[in-house]
Amino acid sequence: MDTEMASRLKKRRMEGNVEREWLYAIMKICTYLDESHITLTPVKIECCNALSATSFPKAFCDTKPYEARLLFGDVFQNGISVLRDFEESKKVPEDRQTLFIFNKLMDFLSGGRSLNILDPLKLRSISDSEMTVLVANHLLGKLTASSCYLIDSNCSGKRGDHCFCGKDVCKLTGNYGDTSIGNPEVWHGSLDIIIHNDVAVEALDEQPNTSETPGGKSPVEVKVKATRLKNTQIIAQTIVFSFLQKKRHPDREHFITPCIGIGRSELIVMLYDSEHDVLLESSTIPLFENEFSCEFSYCAILVSWLTVNYQYFCSGLVEKYKMYKSNFFDIAKEKITVYEEKLQFQNVNSCQFLELRFKNPPVNIKPDVSPFMHETQKALFDKYLRLNRSDDKGSDEKN
Ligand SMILES: [Zn+2]
Repeated sequence: MDTEMASRLKKRRMEGNVEREWLYAIMKICTYLDESHITLTPVKIECCNALSATSFPKAFCDTKPYEARLLFGDVFQNGISVLRDFEESKKVPEDRQTLFIFNKLMDFLSGGRSLNILDPLKLRSISDSEMTVLVANHLLGKLTASSCYLIDSNCSGKRGDHCFCGKDVCKLTGNYGDTSIGNPEVWHGSLDIIIHNDVAVEALDEQPNTSETPGGKSPVEVKVKATRLKNTQIIAQTIVFSFLQKKRHPDREHFITPCIGIGRSELIVMLYDSEHDVLLESSTIPLFENEFSCEFSYCAILVSWLTVNYQYFCSGLVEKYKMYKSNFFDIAKEKITVYEEKLQFQNVNSCQFLELRFKNPPVNIKPDVSPFMHETQKALFDKYLRLNRSDDKGSDEKN
């Protein structure tokens, strides 16, 4: 075989691999494949300090997961339909706005998903909030209609409009400013980043705190615990942001509002529906393809694309899940009018102290499958089998 033909075959096989890995990522949020599938867990608040004048870092919220799981894709049925149409018949969205956002995703996938950092070890030396800005600049911002976002002006390590990836030519497409939300009477404070005025992003604090680390714990155990500790702050922020968005955009079809938590190696999505009082927590999604690469994982790209564009892609709560109340309406009954009517965006007093609490890890439960998802699963499996068959043919040719 001549070299040109060999390289053509190699290119085709690589494209086939990309297509298959991308499809596999879609399957992970639409099917119950294996341990790596991505679900949402409805959680119930047992106890929290939402009634007192508390800044986010001091917020606590003990939650307990319900014995139920929802496939991640089932909250984003509008977005899944777009992806499914393309996978099945290469059909692109007809609506102009959706097509524009769909092309953002296609551009991102074809432009390479690597951070292009020469020394990945350098990433370990930047702070959690710097890492969050880096992910906003290199991933989240690139997947929305406009790449603008607002960064908390009180965050540490500001370097003008420079990105934290270390490349001088890399500029931030977002600005620093006032990201405070809430009401000083209740939960309030600053968000790390607000994407496109619509999606909250927070750093997950995964650094094990040595002063609080009891002996005999493995680093993994410590890390898992630290991640979950910080989630309680994200819950408070998600709830407040959801009420605020409902007040700002009362004409929307549903009021599920997401908050993305960014860790050093993973991300999570927290969603709160301030109309039906349902709080959903996603499983953790690996941020990079592997520990040593600076390539965003297909799952992280997919979940981020659906989440930052939730205004177009979120289909609201599946009927059955409206009964899994978070109990926030009851717990915060005395101050619920503050949450419903008196939340502000910007100029909210805030002070920063740390107080963290534990929560229960979710157990592995098989997610429910809606009729929509059942149809989608069939279509995706068909395509996946066809891809594998054509790949077999490719290797026959080579032999
Ligand atoms: Zn950069």
